Amino acid sequence: MLPDGSWGWSNAGLIVGEGESLLVDTLFDLDLAAEMLAGFGPITEGRPITTVVNTHSDGDHTFGNQLLAARGAEIVGSVATAELVTQDAVASLQRLKTLDGPAGDFARHIFAPFQFDGIIATAPTRTFVDRMSLHIGGRPVELIQVGPAHTAGDTLVYVPDAQLLYTGDILFNGGTPVVWAGPLNRWVAACDLILDLDVTTIVPGHGAVTDKSAVVAMRDYLVFVESRTTELFEDGLTPEQAVEVIDLGPYAGVPESGRIVQNVLNVYHQLDDALPMPDQAGVFGRIAAREGFLAERSGEKGQPLPQDSTA
Ligand SMILES: [Zn+2]
Repeated sequence: MLPDGSWGWSNAGLIVGEGESLLVDTLFDLDLAAEMLAGFGPITEGRPITTVVNTHSDGDHTFGNQLLAARGAEIVGSVATAELVTQDAVASLQRLKTLDGPAGDFARHIFAPFQFDGIIATAPTRTFVDRMSLHIGGRPVELIQVGPAHTAGDTLVYVPDAQLLYTGDILFNGGTPVVWAGPLNRWVAACDLILDLDVTTIVPGHGAVTDKSAVVAMRDYLVFVESRTTELFEDGLTPEQAVEVIDLGPYAGVPESGRIVQNVLNVYHQLDDALPMPDQAGVFGRIAAREGFLAERSGEKGQPLPQDSTA
């Protein structure tokens, strides 16, 4: 678990069976991944990690993959996830940190704690579509693809004998979800699928360990955003106007609320496919603006954020 669950601070998980273990996700950089593996040492001694599952393709869940591949672990993911784990994806994140202007400023700020040099994109080599059943040291582990939602290949990792579920970024506990892929209704369907599973413990992609109550809360947010945005669309507002005026109501105070920019633009794209999918670098700058980051930086409002406040 990596507090506080904001940008890049993701969770991973270890499922331990008889004589072998499975690792769910590999964190955002090599130092973090190495530290995690060292911490697991006493547990994985005699029960090595033979299998890694990537819940999705984002760097904060896959950038440690190469350390596991070097130890001989097989990396498993949905086909759509595997296709997106590329060196280009590593390079575009590095590039984001070097951009002039709002997007670069924001990326340098939120990703300051993470080091992307030396990362070799290491994609899943064993892939599936829809579902896959694994047995790890005698324990069944079910992989259930629910994406596209947060990303194209989102996958749940279900451990029935422990009534345990790893959701990847299908669940942000205590933060705002960001709909990079969508459509939103697929993500809502993923929440419904989780609510129907026999699970008591849920490990989100970001935030503290929780239960189904957090899934209900996130489903409510997604339904709220989709219905509010659809109203604005039907009232004839442009995407830019909708981003500007949408009232987040009870969700205004949730961390990373600026992700509403991407979420609104995603709904607009669904409602009118003549509208392009938003450009990620541009969206970054607009999320920063929406959260007041740029105004704070220029001293117009409040105090400048300290450089090390991301954690
Ligand atoms: Zn994540």
